[in-house]
Parts: sequence; C-alpha cells; structure tokens
Amino acid sequence: MSTQENKLHAMRHSLAHITATAVQRIWPDAKFGVGPVVENGFYYDIDLGDKVISEDNFGRIEKEMKKVIAANVAFKKTSLPIDEAIIWAKENKQPYKLELLNDLKRAGTTVAKDLDADELGTISEGESQVSDVSFYTNGDFTDLCRGPHVASTGNVGAFKLIRIAGAYWRGKEGNPQMQRLYGVAFETQEKLDEYLHMVEEAKARDHRRLGTELDLYTTSDLVGSGLPLFMPRGAALREKLTSFSEQLRKDNGFERVWIPHITKTNLYAVSGHLDKFGDELFLVKSQETSDEFALKPMNCPHHNQIFSAKPRSYKELPLRYFETTTVYRDEKTGELGGLNRVRSITQDDSHVYARQSQLEAEVGSLVKQVQTLYKTLGLNLRARLSFRDDSDLYLGEKKLWDSAEATILSLAEKNKLDFFEAKGEAAFYGPKIDFMGRDALGREHQVATIQLDFVQPERFNLNFVNEEGGDERPVIIHCALLGSLERFLSIYIEHTAGWFPYWLAPEQVRVLTINDSVGDYVKQVEAILKDTVLMKPIRYNELRYSVDNRNESLGRKIRDASRFKIPVTLIIGPKDVAADEVSVRLKDKEEKIKLTELKKFLEGHE
Ligand SMILES: [Zn+2]
Ligand SMILES: [Zn+2]
Repeated sequence: MSTQENKLHAMRHSLAHITATAVQRIWPDAKFGVGPVVENGFYYDIDLGDKVISEDNFGRIEKEMKKVIAANVAFKKTSLPIDEAIIWAKENKQPYKLELLNDLKRAGTTVAKDLDADELGTISEGESQVSDVSFYTNGDFTDLCRGPHVASTGNVGAFKLIRIAGAYWRGKEGNPQMQRLYGVAFETQEKLDEYLHMVEEAKARDHRRLGTELDLYTTSDLVGSGLPLFMPRGAALREKLTSFSEQLRKDNGFERVWIPHITKTNLYAVSGHLDKFGDELFLVKSQETSDEFALKPMNCPHHNQIFSAKPRSYKELPLRYFETTTVYRDEKTGELGGLNRVRSITQDDSHVYARQSQLEAEVGSLVKQVQTLYKTLGLNLRARLSFRDDSDLYLGEKKLWDSAEATILSLAEKNKLDFFEAKGEAAFYGPKIDFMGRDALGREHQVATIQLDFVQPERFNLNFVNEEGGDERPVIIHCALLGSLERFLSIYIEHTAGWFPYWLAPEQVRVLTINDSVGDYVKQVEAILKDTVLMKPIRYNELRYSVDNRNESLGRKIRDASRFKIPVTLIIGPKDVAADEVSVRLKDKEEKIKLTELKKFLEGHE
C-alpha cells in the first residue's frame, strides 16, 4: 500500500472505532464483534440483543459520531497481559472480544483462519505464545485492537453510514446473528460526494433497469434463468454491434464459418476441455444413438475440425475463420443476474491458424481491430500483456513463448497501447493480451482478448505442409473483439446510460406530428427516411425510424420519444410544412432543416 492508501486505511479503521463509540453511547449494552476496513469504507459488527438498528437510526448515530470527531481526542495505545485482557472483556461484558482473546491465548495466533488479523485487530505473528495484547482508547471508548489508527478522532476525513445487514458472528451459520453497520469514508467531503454520486449514477444506469425501461430484453421463468430473450430493440443493438465486429473481420481477410451448437462430448476429451469445463457442460441425450452429446461451451475445437478437413499447404496460411455464435455454460444459478453472467453466451469469435513468422502481422491486425472498435464505441482501453513466468506450468517450447512474448510487447509499443505486463498471468497454453475498457463512471471491465495457443494444434494434430514438403504445426490465435455480446451490452448500456450512438440506436429517428393536417407532408419525409442509408462506421446501415401520428398532444409524444432516448426527433407542424422544413430535436439542441437538406443531414449526423 502507498502512504496515501495507508492513511485512508487508518482513517476508515478509526471510523469503525468511532462508530462503536457512538453506538455504545446510544445503547450502553451493545456487544461488539469486529470492525474492519472494507472497499470504500468500513463496518462494525454489533449485537444489540432484541434491538434492531434501522436506517432511521443512522442520523442519530452519525450525529453522535460527529461529536466524537469534533472532540478530536487522541487514540491512546495501552498493553495488557493476555490474562488481564480476558478479565477486561469479562468485566465489560464483551463476550465476542472474550472469545477472540481466549482463542488468541489458546492458539497463540490471530485466529485468522476465518478472519483477517487486521479485522480482528489482535496481535501476534507466527505460532509464538501471546503475552501482551494492545488496546486503543479514544475518550470514553476502549477497544481491543492492533491498529494502526489516525492520531486523534478529528483526522478521519468525511464519512456516511450507508447500510445495515445481518451477519453471523465470524461468518458461521449457527453462531449469533450480529448487525453489521456499514459506512463509506474518504479523505475529503468532496471525494465522498463524488463517490456517493457515482453510486447513485450506477444505480440509475443499472443495465437491468434500463434493459426493461428501454424494452431491450426480458427473461422468462419458463425459459430459465441466465437465458435472456432479446426484444426487437435489443436485437437491433446486437445486430448492429455484430455487424461492426464482422465488418472489421471481413476487411481484414477473415472468412465466415458456421458450426452446429451441439457436438459429441468426445470432442472435448480430445481438446482437453472436459477437465476444465466438465461441470459447466450442458449434456444432450440422443434418443437414437448411445453417443453422448453436449452443447458447445466454446468454438475452437469445432473450428479446428474445419482446418483439418483437408490437407493444408503453407500457401493457404494464415487461415482466418470468424463467426458470431452462441456457446452454453451451466453457470450456477446463484451467480446469474442481468446480462453480465448468462448461460447463453454469444461470442464474436475468431481463430487464426498462422505460422510463427506470421504472428506479428496477425496479432498486429487484431490489435488494430480492437482499437478501431473501442475508439468508435467511446471506451478507453488498457491492455494487460499476460506472460509466463519461470514455473513449469506452461506447455509448448520455451523458445516459441519467448519470441511470441517479444512480438506482443513490441506490438503494444508500436500501437501505443496503454499497457502493463503481467508475468505469470498467461494461460498454460500461450501468452495473451487482455483489453480492459474504462466506462463513463471510471470502472474497468474486461472486454476483448487476443490469445495465442501452442497446445490445441498439438492436441488436434493440426499440420500444414511447408516449403520443404514436411509437416509443420500452426499456432492458433483466438480472438473475440466484443467478447461476450451479452456481457458487453451490460457494460455498454451502463456506459451510455441508454443513450446509444446514432448509428447504433435501435430507433434512430422518430417523426412526431403536431396534428393531422401534415399527413401528406409526413409521407414525403418518410420517403426520405426510407431512402437514407448510413455508411459509417458500418456500411449499408439502413435508417431505423418510426412515425408517431397518434391523436395525442405533442408534449405527450415528446415524452414518449425521450423515454426511449432516441437520438433524432423530427417534429412536423403546419408552419414547417409552409416553410418546407422540419424541426429537428437532438439530445442537447434544436434546429430547423430544409426538407431538401434532410437526407444529407441524416447521413452526416453522428
Ligand atoms: Zn483499531
Ligand atoms: Zn477459441
């Protein structure tokens, strides 16, 4: 941890003490568990007997905490021999502290099997017998603790209590139920406000909520969890994203292939995936044959069969296959939620079969495709170069690894990637580049991957004939640009808050009529919309539009259109007809456009 992080950690931990101080003032019978630091804040486990803390009590607790902070009393450290500490816990009726101390005395260690030493706040390194334990006192409150804390209660930055939840003592079912009081804390009020704003924003952008509000997808108990169904708007998003990814492939020499979604399970015995994916496989039973089938959890083994369908010559390489296709993995139901974890995972997958001498050009081309895609989508990328370390976990020739890693490193530099190296993070079968996209709230998500593979070509005995007439092994480069389309959508819906770029929006244009007198004019406008095709960033992108000529007020029509976050709204009233114009309403401005200029405007809009 940096000095800065250490300081923030001490602030948050000290606030846990201050929380307990306030709780003890309000409920003198409170029994305390542990008060560790967690992400963005802290918590304290409290036993109040029958008394239940609710959010309504937060104001009162916070007020008391602020008094403790305003008093700015020092955190004073004292030590006691463990037997005296045990007496202290008994006298102060703190059964949980007593239990910790007894464990400490007996085991001589921090009892840290189930709780972090830091959380326990107890002492002791290694197996040695504990003699003394430390206490920290701030004014009227004393806690068994190892520290460190800030010097005095006034130096804790800004905080807010955010949540109360039930938690078993030491996380064990059957143990007493504690109340876990959570707070968040930052160095300054400004940073706290920023964080709280971010949390609110994240809630408002939650893709599950927007997925429903924008009519993107639904789920059905009859179909099953983790199996989302995409409505017309969601399907349009999928189609346009896929078109973009596929266009990048086609522009770079990839050929589309097609594979069935089930296979004999034996395919994965050959690939070696049975061990890895065994319990995630959906098994499919034939009523005719005794063969065991499975829904494919990945595509490479199938694609390998296409490569080896006939003898290959070096002249054919590199061979580049792509396909947008769905794989199925039996994720545990408890882990499923929204689109980020599903059982039907659609990948814009590709496999390049290349010679070693072609790796640089092929990986380089894929890096550029990734960059183009994410630049257009407005997500900043960071790349992790996952390399091997010196352990013997890795398969394939060391020489091949070294040269592939050097190639990846030089490509990262040449393409000006924002990258870092991660030694020991490679898959056992080859090095890879993992791309992380940073969203509008500053969160990073794993997106595209470019994975080299030295092992599957061996397992499937893939060969081509080289210049000398001998057999040579290709290297496989696995790459998905969007990754899982469902997961990507979960990220992108939240990144854009549902305001998809014009070219991608499920409904790009909506025409609103002011009254029925403009009917004929609207027909002219519609003819223009029908004839409008966007060429960037995907080619032949026909305009998706609708006309709202219901007998409703304009205000109502505008509200309905803005609910769907439609990039362009065209409003047409008698005045527009008279002037041969349309009123264009965009997200942040309005303007008038001549009917003769409308097509050009719509084709050029971004
Ligand atoms: Zn402490
Ligand atoms: Zn693959």
